[in-house]
Amino acid sequence: MLAQGRVIVNGDPAKDIALPINEFSHIVCDGQVLQCISPIYVMLHKPTGVVSATKDDKHTCVVDLLDDQLKKQVHLVGRLDLNTSGLLLLTNDSRWSEALMLPEAKVTKEYWVTLANPLTSEYVKAFAEGMYFDYEGITTKPAELEIVGSHRAKVTLREGRYHQIKRMFGRFRNPVVELHRHQIGSLTLDPRLQPGQSRRLTQQELQALD
Ligand code: URA
Repeated sequence: MLAQGRVIVNGDPAKDIALPINEFSHIVCDGQVLQCISPIYVMLHKPTGVVSATKDDKHTCVVDLLDDQLKKQVHLVGRLDLNTSGLLLLTNDSRWSEALMLPEAKVTKEYWVTLANPLTSEYVKAFAEGMYFDYEGITTKPAELEIVGSHRAKVTLREGRYHQIKRMFGRFRNPVVELHRHQIGSLTLDPRLQPGQSRRLTQQELQALD
């Protein structure tokens, strides 16, 4: 079939048996479309009070904020807590989401944090040194903490452990009052997106994330 030019991949006749294809290759054989799925990459401004899941009995789920067609196709790239707001990614490209989530990829995540009690320079040192978490038996990777106000900080993590930010401030018995994810790698939450709004990533944003 290949030799006869009957298979068209992404608009061109496929002749080479070794031509790489993936789940997003557009494949036509004898005029019949065999596969036609476009990759989807979405950034969402997650509001607080919405759960990072696809199904929940009590709360609205982040996918419920997308249109019906889109919500059936995408999965979440990581999670944010119920009371955390900010940048959340959704996609139908599992290789992309897995690569982004790999601990070895060390993709940075920047959070804006408001605390109940004032911050001191001790926090900066403790975050940079890493903290031992008994439950997992691990020490957190060096994290940057920048104090931007008496009760406000920017924290940059290179990993994402369960409730990590809250647990790290918990060491100082300093409750997190507000938590917002501003950035993942080179990708910043679009300031035009109101909580609950989303948009597709641009080609430039996608390339910069790679
Ligand atoms: N750390 C937390 O504690 N919660 C989040 O939602 C994200 C990071």
